[in-house]
Amino acid sequence: MEYAKVPHLGKKVSRIGMGTWAIGGWMWGGTDEKNAIDALQKGFSLGLNLVDTAPVYGFGQSEEIVGKAVKEYGNRDSLVIATKVGLSWKGGEISRDSSRKRILKEIEDSLRRLQVEYIDIYQVHWPDPSTPFSETATTLKELLDSGKIRAIGVSNFSPKQMDGFQQYAPIHTSQPPFNLFEREIEKDVLPYCIKKKIATLGYGSICRGLLSGKISKETKFHGDDLRKEDPKFQEPLFSAYLACVERLKAWAQKKHGRSVLSLAVRWALDKGVSIALWGVRKPEQLDDMDEVWGWKLASKDFHEINQILAECLQSTLGPEFMAPP
Ligand code: NAP
Repeated sequence: MEYAKVPHLGKKVSRIGMGTWAIGGWMWGGTDEKNAIDALQKGFSLGLNLVDTAPVYGFGQSEEIVGKAVKEYGNRDSLVIATKVGLSWKGGEISRDSSRKRILKEIEDSLRRLQVEYIDIYQVHWPDPSTPFSETATTLKELLDSGKIRAIGVSNFSPKQMDGFQQYAPIHTSQPPFNLFEREIEKDVLPYCIKKKIATLGYGSICRGLLSGKISKETKFHGDDLRKEDPKFQEPLFSAYLACVERLKAWAQKKHGRSVLSLAVRWALDKGVSIALWGVRKPEQLDDMDEVWGWKLASKDFHEINQILAECLQSTLGPEFMAPP
């Protein structure tokens, strides 16, 4: 196990965090509570103490399931619970709202659903252009001072937006998308956070399963699964990404004797994110987690991986389509 430091938190944090968007069911084709709780319990027992959720994931369902798993586990203080604030929903329509009124309501809803007294990392889910940073930041600072939250985070913020926010309150964590195929943050967000000593939680570490090495052209996605819309999972791009995963799989096996999934997570960690978020909803999805530890990628490895990516992906897509209006 490797641990990261999150400013202000005073707890060690595992460098892999369990992501629970899919556990909420919404946009992932439904939920299975028993499997989800078993997956989280397995992660806790393997030493993963960070779990990332959000009110909008299943409109409360993900937080509720996380709450049940945490209660069943028992040792709440050893865990790091990260949730978010600032997206509202009405009849399936999502909008951004990081107003003081919304935050003060959401914190109580989250504490109730999670069945805890405090939240370790409280993150603004998306920047809200209709609320001034002063209002959002000072409200979160009040929650920090009261002890209801233990660290302030932002997600999907640019360096300029983080600068604006930090005029009114500190930022302890930042959560951007980051994986082998979606690496825009290397240009600005990642160096900014490293310089400012803001811990990073990179999300989508295995590109919504694409980098698990277990998805093929025959894989079917069901119900409202976002991969039915995600352009990376549509032809002709889908075949190109799958062929690239095969190249990376062969490289990881030959060079390091590891799976492509562990390569994807190792790559994100060695590129400098503090924590890689890995979405899990079935216990067996964590079976190969141990393969992530005990090795590191050297600069020659990064070079060879870049060569593979350049050869097999002439055009790549960012994660923009996931942004709410
Ligand atoms: P991800 O981690 O790249 O992919 C997760 C999906 O990959 C799983 O739901 C699962 O899909 C599949 N998978 C996981 N382990 C596997 C294994 N061993 N073998 C085969 N397939 C496997 O994507 P993500 O869940 O979107 O991102 C991780 C977390 O980051 C989220 O859960 C959430 O907490 C956070 N996030 C935050 C934001 C934000 O705006 N802040 C946005 C996106 C995500 P199946 O179960 O369908 O096979």
